[in-house]
Amino acid sequence: IDVAKIRNFSIVAHVDHGKSTLADRLLELTGVIKPGHENRQVLDQLQVERERGITVKAVTASLNYTFNNEQYLLNLIDTPGHVDFSNEVVRSVKACQGVILLVDANEGVQAQTVAVHSLAKRNNLIIIPTLNKVDLPRADPENVKAQLKSLFNINPDDVMSISAKKGWGVQELLQAVITKIPPPPADFKKHFKANIIDTWHDKYRGIMCLAYIESGTIQVGQTVKWRSDLKQHTLKYLALLRPGEEPIDKAVAGQVVMVGCGPKGGGCVGDQLLSLESAENIKVATAPTVKHMVYAGIYPADQSQHTQLSDAIKKLALNDSAVSVNIDSSPALGQGWRIGFLGLLHLDVFTQRLLQEHKAEAILTAPSVPYKIKVKGSKLIKQYKGDEVLITNPLQLPEASNILEYYEPLVIGTIITPVEYIGAVTTLCVDRRGTPLPSSAVDDKMTMMQFVLPLSEVVIDFHDTLKSLTSGFASFDYQDHGFHPSALVRMDIVLNGVLVDELCTIVHTSRLEYTAKKLTAKLKEMIPRQMVQIAIQAIVSGKVYSRETIKAYRKDVTAKLYGGDITRRKKLLKQQSEGKKKMRSVANIKIPRNTFIDVLKR
Ligand code: GDP
Ligand code: MG
Repeated sequence: IDVAKIRNFSIVAHVDHGKSTLADRLLELTGVIKPGHENRQVLDQLQVERERGITVKAVTASLNYTFNNEQYLLNLIDTPGHVDFSNEVVRSVKACQGVILLVDANEGVQAQTVAVHSLAKRNNLIIIPTLNKVDLPRADPENVKAQLKSLFNINPDDVMSISAKKGWGVQELLQAVITKIPPPPADFKKHFKANIIDTWHDKYRGIMCLAYIESGTIQVGQTVKWRSDLKQHTLKYLALLRPGEEPIDKAVAGQVVMVGCGPKGGGCVGDQLLSLESAENIKVATAPTVKHMVYAGIYPADQSQHTQLSDAIKKLALNDSAVSVNIDSSPALGQGWRIGFLGLLHLDVFTQRLLQEHKAEAILTAPSVPYKIKVKGSKLIKQYKGDEVLITNPLQLPEASNILEYYEPLVIGTIITPVEYIGAVTTLCVDRRGTPLPSSAVDDKMTMMQFVLPLSEVVIDFHDTLKSLTSGFASFDYQDHGFHPSALVRMDIVLNGVLVDELCTIVHTSRLEYTAKKLTAKLKEMIPRQMVQIAIQAIVSGKVYSRETIKAYRKDVTAKLYGGDITRRKKLLKQQSEGKKKMRSVANIKIPRNTFIDVLKR
């Protein structure tokens, strides 16, 4: 195959603007699937994706297309559309030379359109601006073209118009992909080198990788080595994904292919597969540069399911390289894991996949963001290997007196909203400790606002609140803005004078009273009355910010049965004693297990 006939591209867009639908049309046009099945969304393979209507994993399809009597190989990389998954977007974008920037002609430019546009710009990709859903009666292509002009300086004459649903303009779009996007800058003559852009686990064949071949050629049976450990393997599997596998014997620079070296063959995202002759002979750490924005503990619903859950997490983590997995344990919840995610949706999708694809039942703790602290004292500095420490769980915090400074992650939030909600959006953002940046008009009805916001204020329910404040019309996206010093403190929860480690949190000083009241009130609600009176206190550096009391009382579940049916009575007593097993005891107080999970949720 001739490199000049290869195009690697991706479709990027705000969620729901039609990526999956367009991908289906492209598959039809190139004969991969039969036309006529509207919205089959072939690339949305995972069950979660179908249920939630979002694309989680990027999937590639190699398409054959004839244009001007020439055969082209078009590699389409479908990208996920949600803010949480920008890691996957970035990764797939790296294998592309151009993108189709899809914008709903009815909704216009949304927050994520801005984000994916700047991503494509940063990577020097050719952008094919395309309006979708022009079949809708309320579509306003001229206005959306004007938005693209004012925000991105895109010439209205360069904008294509399609209806992915009806198939209008899709041929022309494919031809634009060929004429506007350059072939990959691949070199056959150099040694073989391929970048791994995705991996997944195959029960029988081991780790399978999606690879973009940067240079050289490769053949099944050839010996290759990984950049990360220089270990040698035989290339066992080589295939095009159309998106079903089509085995091939040979592949060349510029292609996007599936590779595998068998059950012990290894491979991870960010690593490179090299030919033996390659001069690169130094091991290189290939840890993907992923920033985890949200952490949560995951525990088996029952300790007997520990091994099963462990297996499931390992397999899923392999397919989802964006998560970080560390072993964790808690007196209340037992042995488990602390897992880092890109965002809350990522966390949701991960646990749902754990359940659906691996049949593992898990308990999630409240999510938290990572913090950084500066510590003093040579002992601590030695222990942490430096004076700056990343804290992914408030439990890891040292004594307050040893902490010199706290840092929290900030983000730049982009909100596109109808102008009538500017006031409400500003109030929300200021309420969440946000600092406004200059805003700009999208058109005469919509405006783009930007704020610097603490991530902790964004990850929990910011998006939902924004949506309900603006009747669903505002869109939101955020990008990382790094760690900054912040007036944070550790808030402790004390029951009858005893500190409960698992309930401590990191709180901004402007929120002490509010958080203290909320935590103690919630605990009062969640902890059942017991033989002893329980005092609940929220304390910061020795000062009590809130206190609640639960009066002593023996809860007799059978009391209201008036002697009644003996089997029913026995059953209830049994249930009560089973409930007790799931309790954590602190100072003779029994705390239901789910308290630790629910109390910190907003
Ligand atoms: P994605 O989130 O970007 O993958 O968007 P989808 O492809 O899942 O499309 C979101 C919704 O828009 C679905 O209900 C589609 O049927 C609908 N849709 C996509 N393209 C068109 C189009 O050209 N016209 C109309 N009327 N609806 C479309
Ligand atoms: Mg989709």
